[in-house]
Amino acid sequence: MMRFSTALAMTATLTATTVALVPAAASAHGGAPPRTPTATGYGGAVSTVDPTATAVGLDVLRRGGNAVDAAVAAAATLGVTEPFSAGIGGGGFFVYYDAQHRRVHTIDGRESGPATMTEDIFIDPADGLPYDFAEARVSGLSVGTPGTLATWEAAAGKWGSRSLGSLLRPAAEVADRGFAVDATFRQQIADNAAPFAQFAATSELYLPGGAPPAVGSVQRNPDLADTYRLIAERGTGVFYRGPIGADIVRTVQHPPVADNPTAPWAYPIRPGDLRLSDLAGYRLRFPAPTKSDYRGLTVYGMSTPSSGGTAVGEALNILEQTDLSAVSVTQALHQYLEATALSFADRNRYVGAYTPQATLDRLISDRWARQRACQIDADKALVKPVPPGDLGASGCTPALAGQPVEEGQSTTNLTVADKWGNVVEYTLTIEQTGGSAMVVPGRGFLLNNELTDFNFTGTQGTAPDPNLPGPNKRPRSSMSPTIVLKDGKPFLALGSPGGATIITTVLQVLVNRVDLGMTLPEAMAAPRASQRNSPGVQAEPAFHTRYGPDLTALGHAFAPDVPELGAATAIEFGRHGKLIASAEPARRGGGAAGVVRR
Ligand code: GLU
Repeated sequence: MMRFSTALAMTATLTATTVALVPAAASAHGGAPPRTPTATGYGGAVSTVDPTATAVGLDVLRRGGNAVDAAVAAAATLGVTEPFSAGIGGGGFFVYYDAQHRRVHTIDGRESGPATMTEDIFIDPADGLPYDFAEARVSGLSVGTPGTLATWEAAAGKWGSRSLGSLLRPAAEVADRGFAVDATFRQQIADNAAPFAQFAATSELYLPGGAPPAVGSVQRNPDLADTYRLIAERGTGVFYRGPIGADIVRTVQHPPVADNPTAPWAYPIRPGDLRLSDLAGYRLRFPAPTKSDYRGLTVYGMSTPSSGGTAVGEALNILEQTDLSAVSVTQALHQYLEATALSFADRNRYVGAYTPQATLDRLISDRWARQRACQIDADKALVKPVPPGDLGASGCTPALAGQPVEEGQSTTNLTVADKWGNVVEYTLTIEQTGGSAMVVPGRGFLLNNELTDFNFTGTQGTAPDPNLPGPNKRPRSSMSPTIVLKDGKPFLALGSPGGATIITTVLQVLVNRVDLGMTLPEAMAAPRASQRNSPGVQAEPAFHTRYGPDLTALGHAFAPDVPELGAATAIEFGRHGKLIASAEPARRGGGAAGVVRR
């Protein structure tokens, strides 16, 4: 996830004023537009990590588009301005609240593995050992069939009021005109300099002259502008069954390695077996959202292949066993850390693309929460990792120990509401920052490495691992786009990037807001910690400083601090149509929240 500034004021077609747009003269030389972490008002709202994407979304709303239209246009813009986190080379999960019918829908636009994918895809045949992560990532093996474009098409077609083509055009204009590189954008490239240097198309775009672009220089992507326009004119068939798809397949099967890479790379770059038939056969799924009650609120989330909905739901159910508002902050945080450890143990053991619905239902049931919550001791932290629960047991009996599992740290999230009360919560990704590092030559977008979200080998001892690769299978995700209703109406929508920390970030913002008396902006800004069933709690320095001593006294261990966790966006729904749009005030340089009318 990264941010940067638009180099130019939005086109004449963009008239947004609530999100400050930078005058062309000021920004063409790298002046960053102001970022607005909180915006309060009426008539619709957008929160993303990037001011340009937020401005595009707001403009769609002002012109009479609905939340789905605005979300698709903003996401397409993020594909230009956040290319290392999201784009049409990746996938994601789209959660939509339909105000007219008062229903929550989801789209599973997760990447799927090739039909020929086998369980041992990430095992080196030479020695029978799993590949190093970097070797698997920067290869054709890691690339799944992208679901993002299909997601936009389906969302716009089912619930939007604008054509997909018209929603791609503002993003194409941004790609044509360019935007000013900021420090984060540059750093994301610098962090990827070696893998990017292996591919001519990636180097040409992101390593001009062999080095990351200077801060303040204008970054353009005319190939992506053309790609968007081609799709706008001819439809998504050019991607899933036509020339763009053919280029994707060629890239995966014959990674376009540069003749003389400007940086060394320690690994062979292996081809994958994604075929045009995989792209043509790609199908979105429309699973029922996960649903759990939390202190009178109804929390809707994303079902499998994301583990986000069940993991958030299970942890909330465990937390509900304690009145967090009546205990000390230390005790509330203790309960939060214990609940997520238990929830992650169960998620690792049981949740994958093919988990039976009955198992998911059980994991998110209050009965299960009681069986898990009874293991928490208010005075002493559990030893981590905790074992997963035994689904066949009726008491507090844990089953065999499982291993903690981690994922990448990329991705982006956006939240949109319109004047009719519709809401979109959408998390999209190409997995690692920079995905597989392969830009499709001539097309201007990076391919994902989402298939490395599979476990390379079993992680659950003698028990089956639900997240091993398989033909056409989708890797387990942690993405947790969440919509919370109160009395049947939207109360809060939120989500975040951050790999497996997505689950804990969403939970912590919810607990901060619902239980700890914080306003939404306070809940977003508060320092974060993440316990994913590992020996040490991962925490931001401010959290560690403030709460570390008391939590350590309860037996929690801390891993080395991390500078920041997540980059959330959210909207809260107040009385009489009032909207509080919220983005990060500081993490990753801060996000951009805007409203249609103040
Ligand atoms: N690939 C990860 C997932 O689906 C997301 C990566 C991230 O957010 O950093 O859970």
